[in-house]
Amino acid sequence: MRLPPALLAALLLIPLVPQAVSAGPVAPPSPAVRDFGNGPERNEVAADVPERADALAATQSEQAERPGTLSHERGYPRRTRLPVPPENPADASIKLGLVPHHGIAPRLNDLQQRGDRVSAQVIGHSYGGRDLYLVTVTAPESAAETREQERIRERIENDPAAAARDRKLVKRYKAPVFVNANIHGNEWEGTDAALRVIEELATSKDPRIADLLARTRLYFNITANPDGRVNGVRQNGAGFDLNRDFVTASQPEVRAMRQIMIDAQPVTMIDLHGYVNGTLIEPTTPPHGANYEYDLFIQNTYANGLGMEAAVNGLGYTAEKDGVYPAQIPFRDSAEGWDDWPPIFTPQYAPFHGAVAAHTVEIPLRVNGSDYTQQPVEELRRRSAINTDVAAAAIRATYAFVRDRHDRLIADQIEVFRRGAAGEPSRTVPLGIVPGFGPEDVYTTTFPRAYVITGRRSQAAAARLVDHLIANDVRVERARHAFRADGRTYPAGSYVVDMRQPKRGLANVMLEAGADISPRVDAMYDISGWSHGLLWGAGVDGVTSLRVQADPVKTAAPTGSVPRTPGALALKVSDAKDVLALNDLLAQGTAVTWADGAAVVPASARAAARAVSERYGVVLTPAGTASGVPLSRVRIAAAASADELFTLRELGFAVTPVSTAVLNAGYDWSGTDVLFVSSGLSYTALNPAAKAALDAFLTTGGVITRGGTGATFNAAAGLLTATAVAGRGDANGVVRVLSTGGQVGGGSPDHSFVYSPRWFTGLGPEVTVEQSYAAEGPLVSGHWRPDADGTGGQDAARGQAAVVSGRDERGAAVVLFGTEPMFRNHPKGLFPQVARALYWASSVTGAAVKG
Ligand SMILES: [Zn+2]
Repeated sequence: MRLPPALLAALLLIPLVPQAVSAGPVAPPSPAVRDFGNGPERNEVAADVPERADALAATQSEQAERPGTLSHERGYPRRTRLPVPPENPADASIKLGLVPHHGIAPRLNDLQQRGDRVSAQVIGHSYGGRDLYLVTVTAPESAAETREQERIRERIENDPAAAARDRKLVKRYKAPVFVNANIHGNEWEGTDAALRVIEELATSKDPRIADLLARTRLYFNITANPDGRVNGVRQNGAGFDLNRDFVTASQPEVRAMRQIMIDAQPVTMIDLHGYVNGTLIEPTTPPHGANYEYDLFIQNTYANGLGMEAAVNGLGYTAEKDGVYPAQIPFRDSAEGWDDWPPIFTPQYAPFHGAVAAHTVEIPLRVNGSDYTQQPVEELRRRSAINTDVAAAAIRATYAFVRDRHDRLIADQIEVFRRGAAGEPSRTVPLGIVPGFGPEDVYTTTFPRAYVITGRRSQAAAARLVDHLIANDVRVERARHAFRADGRTYPAGSYVVDMRQPKRGLANVMLEAGADISPRVDAMYDISGWSHGLLWGAGVDGVTSLRVQADPVKTAAPTGSVPRTPGALALKVSDAKDVLALNDLLAQGTAVTWADGAAVVPASARAAARAVSERYGVVLTPAGTASGVPLSRVRIAAAASADELFTLRELGFAVTPVSTAVLNAGYDWSGTDVLFVSSGLSYTALNPAAKAALDAFLTTGGVITRGGTGATFNAAAGLLTATAVAGRGDANGVVRVLSTGGQVGGGSPDHSFVYSPRWFTGLGPEVTVEQSYAAEGPLVSGHWRPDADGTGGQDAARGQAAVVSGRDERGAAVVLFGTEPMFRNHPKGLFPQVARALYWASSVTGAAVKG
């Protein structure tokens, strides 16, 4: 988690022991805090993240790795024999008396044999290569019955108006329910509760259970994060918080969850977390995401929330006896601080695929962090047993809710898709629709008639965005001919996202600019701004009219091209794909030069250029007479956060993680061209030998820094003359920027992303401003208020330098970022800025000097 000091203080004050709290209903921590984040924060050093060769390949094409998770050609049960991983005595679950990852497959293999209700399958692999298990529990179906269920599901999504008129449909359809467990690896017990409930359902003789399974399908993602489960940490093996990745889908576990939601189309889902005492059950506080059909969502979600609360409280655990407090519902019990604004969380993403009730559930008793290491094993196991009971109660309450509200939930899902397909305006939810729903809960948006996606900035960026939308089950078309919309002419081949479509909410939440919600709420839980439309490097326009002949596409068209005319070729680094292509050429030893933000490939390397153009879809142009400084593969030493390390590697750079400790242990700089500093490296904490070695490197090497750690490093190491000014710590979102050319800013999008923004004043004569915060705003969408003393707000940042570059007096090429160009691997359109900084720094002081 990234918490501002005030929230952090609130977090530390949350009672962990019963006697710290008075009796009676417990007020939820305010502002509420989503999870006790005991794993490393994002900005800690990520030196232990292993590199995976296939991580790069996995990001090449979302389409290529998009198998459906659910076959519709076989009936149920399917009785797959799951492969059993080798026993791992170091699995962190064992200490808690919980099932280790290697114990899951044997349990599921056994449960499949004990009746005809359970089917298990492997739906993908974690970053660390571990199996991801999806279990389907339902009454047996013939293949024909399964095909009929799929026909109905497909009709609900794609012909919702007809589905709404078909009165027999809801009677024939098995309502899909999705239970997601253990997305945070050190919040274990959802997995064990899921296995317990599956066993109950598999073996129950209760006619109500038979009735339930005849009318529903229950889908269980047994552990969404096996790497974290085994390692006892929140993140997956790549160091990513998976429950922040849904709009980006950078991680394989998230792509697997996304596919479950697309294929199963659940009407209801719960996501099992820990630990908040008393058990925290959504719905949430404001602000509420503006792209949901919130009138339908809040009614169902609140109803199931109340049902889960009753079930959890009904277990009979007490504060006095067990240290277990009554459940809390943020929507009802808190003013703000636990919101459903960004769709980066599972229950905030699922509604776009038709979930009309979706919840985070935080089970009560902490067993991770310092408790894991310091509490006696018996106490940990007592807590885990209670947590498992609580999670199981939440699952049972949810399936009972779906059984009781079966027809209405299906009808409401149909209505979500119907409104989308009809292109109806965003609805203002009536006040009092559920008790306590007030003006503070009302959020709406404006849907354009369509979005047009063009390659005017980069063809490869447009293709990436189109493939991402399609992977998210958003419909995209391609214009046959040039057309006009809102006074603008778009070329043939432009992509069109018609907003009259069932999942228009998802399309809009990604493509719209978002909103500056600073005036409306004091505190946000996590990020408040994102935008694929503004940050992914493609040209994206919302238009109010749509007259175009267009054909549906399943994948973006190829984008690469090489001119026929002979001579040297220019590769402009304006997209991540350009970076990949250039790094591929450099890895092959191609004699590339660097000039003004572009690479020049000699005529003699034409065959290699053609190959990377095809492989990555990049456009090369005639280079004319351009020449430049020789460039070789950039070797980076990175004191960076996990997402930055992942992104740099994804871009094809050679990266060695470093930290204060690594440098103090004696680091050989001879294989490094550029040092990247954003996390885990303090110049002043280096020992004399490490400092001397670093200083020697700085006479030939380059330095890129980001954020507070980077700015501090710049000052301490005496690099550029610049004073870093910190904006408010929790400010974040999409900002308008002005690029002023130079090596790094030139060709950048008009928007950037910030978290804890910084800007640079008192610039020395050696410093060039690459990019500034715009005079208007600069916040476009997100949350950015001044600090209590009036400083650090948006106004203070207006027109200030956000990214600067220069050569320090030793000759080192240095770039300072006050923005967040690689944040959680999201702002794809900003990655090239970092790459250009690296190429420039390397070409100036690395390759050129070293020859
Ligand atoms: Zn969690």
